[in-house]
Amino acid sequence: MHEIAPVPLAALTTLETGGAPERMLEATTTEGLVEALRATWTRGDEWFVLGGGSNLFVGDDEFEGTVIRVRTTGIDELPSPHEGRIRLRVQAGHGWDDLVAYAVEHGYAGLEAMSGIPGTVGAAPVQNIGAYGQEIQETLVEVELIDEATGEVSTVPAGDLGLGFRTSVLKHHYGSEPQRRAVILSVTFDLRVAHERVVRGEQLRRALVLSDDRPVPLAWVRERILATRASKGMLWDEEDPDTHGVGSFFQNAIVPEAVARSLPPECPRWPVQPDLDAVTVIPLASYDGLVPAPRREPADVKVSAAWLIEHAGIRKGFRLPRSRASLSTKHALALTNRGGATAAEVAELARFIQSRVHSEFGLVLQPEPVLVGVEL
Ligand SMILES: Cc1cc2nc3c(=O)[nH]c(=O)nc-3n(C[C@H](O)[C@H](O)[C@H](O)COP(=O)(O)OP(=O)(O)OC[C@H]3O[C@@H](n4cnc5c(N)ncnc54)[C@H](O)[C@@H]3O)c2cc1C
Repeated sequence: MHEIAPVPLAALTTLETGGAPERMLEATTTEGLVEALRATWTRGDEWFVLGGGSNLFVGDDEFEGTVIRVRTTGIDELPSPHEGRIRLRVQAGHGWDDLVAYAVEHGYAGLEAMSGIPGTVGAAPVQNIGAYGQEIQETLVEVELIDEATGEVSTVPAGDLGLGFRTSVLKHHYGSEPQRRAVILSVTFDLRVAHERVVRGEQLRRALVLSDDRPVPLAWVRERILATRASKGMLWDEEDPDTHGVGSFFQNAIVPEAVARSLPPECPRWPVQPDLDAVTVIPLASYDGLVPAPRREPADVKVSAAWLIEHAGIRKGFRLPRSRASLSTKHALALTNRGGATAAEVAELARFIQSRVHSEFGLVLQPEPVLVGVEL
């Protein structure tokens, strides 16, 4: 662990906003990272850890606290208890796409559809990253993390991380506190050993334009996904301003069935898997021999935020007068920095979009990135 001269966060985040923090530490080993975190917590500073900065929207004022850059790298191959599979334990600061490239090259299936997502491996479970119908919760076994409350390092199974659609107990959602304040040190995946796979998921089949069930090489899947992402401005590229954002800035809205029915029928929507209420606990004292029929809670529906934005009259490439922030010219969900935009300019655009969608459809779009020192 070493202290470095604070670098403006605009230079370390893909949305390119944010001033320099008061203090900056950098860790290239797990021991150094643990030491940096414990020292920061002992001081009682405000703090956050920074991976690739691709899911952060940082305000213009100085962050009064410590930013810890996670720069640990390394992949260890471990035996899997399941036949035909392998485990990879990866250090938190390792580049996500470097891991996917490694897995594809070695013939380990399960991550290839997530090719090209920017950022680090340690940040990936924080919002259960996913693309084209593949999410890391499908292959994630466990993480090693350190909790702020105790300062202790422990191994936490994936099932205890509260993984859901772009969420986990570790994520700092806008307007609320994370359920567990902890930092991931390493991540373990269980992958199938195979250079080819049959693609079953509908979203991925559509993206790959597949018409039959023949197995396809992982390398081919990766190549096609990278090309598709580049065409949508979803592959980080220094030269392409459409990628200078955080990917999707707004989450698809999750609404009750009744609200979804009030939206125009052509608005794309998908069912949200209801929580399975498989176990009904009846206290013994009140058990009268009858088990109540399971209740069917009204289902939630996920509706397309991109459709809502475009049908609220905001087109790709839209920008407010004199602003250096705009919607991507390729994707209606990506707010981008066209060069020198301040966080205030990005926030002004985000608020404008939220208010247009709200007045048109009565829904408030929620931001997907983690906001630090910015209000919407
Ligand atoms: C062009 C583009 C396309 C994108 N496409 C997708 C996509 O298809 N799917 C998708 O899911 N996301 C996508 N994203 C969002 C982003 O890439 C992911 O959320 C990624 O996992 C963020 O990683 P990071 O290292 O950059 O995190 P950062 O931005 O550095 O941090 C994000 C949050 O995680 C916390 N954090 C970072 N490291 C750790 C750690 N080790 N332990 C605990 N907390 C940590 C930070 O404190 C912060 O709160 C895209 C972003 C861009 C710019």
